[in-house]
Amino acid sequence: MIQFTAMPQEDPCDPAQFRAQVRHFCEHDLPARVRAKVNANLFLEKEDYLAFLHALVPRGWVAGHWPREWGGRGWTPLQRFIFEEESAACGAPWLIPFGVSYVGPVIYTFGSAWQKERFLPPILASTEWWAQGYSEPGAGSDLAALRTRALRDGDDYVVNGSKIWTSYVQWADWIFVLARTSEESRRQQGISFLLVDMKSPGVTIRPIRTMDGCHHVNEVFFDDVRVPARNLVGEEGGGWTYAKFLLNNERVIAAETGRSMRQLAHLQALVDSEPARADAAEFRARIAGLRLKLHALRAYCLKAARRMDPAQPAGVDASVMKVRGSELQQAIAEAAVDWLGARGAVYDPEWVHADMPCAPVGPAHGPGLVREYLHGRAATIYGGSNEIQRNIIAKAELGL
Ligand SMILES: Cc1cc2nc3c(=O)[nH]c(=O)nc-3n(C[C@H](O)[C@H](O)[C@H](O)COP(=O)(O)OP(=O)(O)OC[C@H]3O[C@@H](n4cnc5c(N)ncnc54)[C@H](O)[C@@H]3O)c2cc1C
Repeated sequence: MIQFTAMPQEDPCDPAQFRAQVRHFCEHDLPARVRAKVNANLFLEKEDYLAFLHALVPRGWVAGHWPREWGGRGWTPLQRFIFEEESAACGAPWLIPFGVSYVGPVIYTFGSAWQKERFLPPILASTEWWAQGYSEPGAGSDLAALRTRALRDGDDYVVNGSKIWTSYVQWADWIFVLARTSEESRRQQGISFLLVDMKSPGVTIRPIRTMDGCHHVNEVFFDDVRVPARNLVGEEGGGWTYAKFLLNNERVIAAETGRSMRQLAHLQALVDSEPARADAAEFRARIAGLRLKLHALRAYCLKAARRMDPAQPAGVDASVMKVRGSELQQAIAEAAVDWLGARGAVYDPEWVHADMPCAPVGPAHGPGLVREYLHGRAATIYGGSNEIQRNIIAKAELGL
């Protein structure tokens, strides 16, 4: 049985006190260089994410929402929401979820004793990077159509197939993969959940540049990759259950209200900096409308977080937060590029790969706003597309 280091004291349950602690952390312990890059919407490198994660480790905040038994802080859903909102609002990077929010809970809920001992401590310490190998060409929304195969051969599985849109796998040590271990009449059966070492012979990556010109996503190919059978999570053929458990966790974190708060404050500052512009009043009205939507979404999230049971799936609340949150992010980014106008028309990805904004053409903040707008188009696709979320809401709430 692994012994996790007990963290010194509880985090405050009082929302205002906890929020103040998170803000204090971001202002004092988050490296200023990273915060500046986030605030300028620049592309973050692995070292930027790691600087944030390593600042969180001593407080146990990397996995605050994990049960104490597994080295977490036992946060309530409300504490988790406050942490994620406030840190993002203050300029902290996205807490990359593949290890800590996705595969970690799958391992401590369904994994073997060996898997818990091997994989949980490096996730808590942020010393191993994970990627998510779910989607395939032809299997995104319809995930059960996946065709990657894992055939048992002695003490190993031999994996063949490919994954696509795999975020940040270029930095990953491990990838969790859904693979078909048998052909069943129901497509959801016969899928297994495997933990694959990225250093295994036969794993290759091909980068995909998204329309912001940056390298977020990839194709991953598995050619006769041998994966030890002890890396199978739970039962062979039972992977669909674990996959769905993970997807539920994925959507809970999708409202991104903190990020929208930061972007909206930035837009407000830009408009205030040019009060004499003929369209300033129009933009102020547009910001007011966006702010109302953000208030409504935050009220919904806070209410949902208060009624959520961390041991139960978030259900339709998660779908509502995903749809409203992603559409709001896009609307704010669109307003920002509208404000930039022709000044944002020239964009070079090189300009968002620096430590500080540097645009030979146009205002210094321009490239970051354009990048945010371009990459933000993906927010209504990843984490389960918004059309699929609307189907879930229609079925659950309207009985359609
Ligand atoms: C930036 C980015 C990062 C990603 N990162 C990862 C990752 O790390 N790991 C991973 O496994 N995957 C990742 N994905 C993949 C993502 O989960 C899929 O793109 C998503 O599930 C949609 O699947 P698809 O792209 O195959 O589109 P499709 O499923 O082919 O859908 C195409 C369009 O049809 C619509 N549609 C499909 N079915 C229905 C339906 N039944 N009713 C109504 N409309 C429907 C969709 O909403 C969409 O608009 C990422 C995607 C993006 C864009």
